[in-house]
Amino acid sequence: MTKQIDSVMICTSNKKKFEEISIILKALNINTIMPPKELEIDEYANTFLSNAYLKAKAYYKVYKTITLADDSGLEIEAFGNKPGVYSARFYQMDFGNEVLTSHEKNTLPKDELNNLKVLRLLEKEENRRAKFVSAVVLMLDEHKGIFGEGYLEGIIAKELSGNMGFGYDPIFIPNGYDKTLANIGNKNDFSHRKKAIEAIVSVLKNLL
Ligand code: IMP
Repeated sequence: MTKQIDSVMICTSNKKKFEEISIILKALNINTIMPPKELEIDEYANTFLSNAYLKAKAYYKVYKTITLADDSGLEIEAFGNKPGVYSARFYQMDFGNEVLTSHEKNTLPKDELNNLKVLRLLEKEENRRAKFVSAVVLMLDEHKGIFGEGYLEGIIAKELSGNMGFGYDPIFIPNGYDKTLANIGNKNDFSHRKKAIEAIVSVLKNLL
């Protein structure tokens, strides 16, 4: 199966995400291409899957090559599963009490603001359960897409730790571990993204 797909364009401008997907696909003998130019796509849908589909379809339409898009985020139980699809912009979300100062908002990178906000809002919370979700769509042509989803369950740490990975990795401890994803070298062996891509590959096997 994998021999019939040589390369796939990954619809992202996030270098870390591109790297993770490339490592996972490389193990399946599929090469990855970065889009020559990032497309402006309004991610207005309210599910990960719809957003991934919007991205994969838009890139296919422009570049006429097999595309793969991932839309992912963090669901925190104590926040009613938010920020979810709003994970990238969580630091801007109105959550009742403002826990970030304007100085922090003007000076810190977005990922750090998101992480600080989660930690501060959970300061007195006992339920720290959370889940990473990844939805992946592979567009084989303009009309044929394959969908996959993957999850990674865990808890939110008490403080930031580690410098591997990206996004919320420094505050997320997967179940079965005692350190954050940002301290775990083999994230790509068991991540939500890996599971979503595996789901797609098993569908592909029956299709090609
Ligand atoms: P997007 O799918 O690129 O829009 O990312 C949504 C948000 O979730 C961003 O803030 C990412 O940093 C975060 N995110 C997505 N996947 C991961 C992951 O594997 N680890 C940590 N954060 C992630």
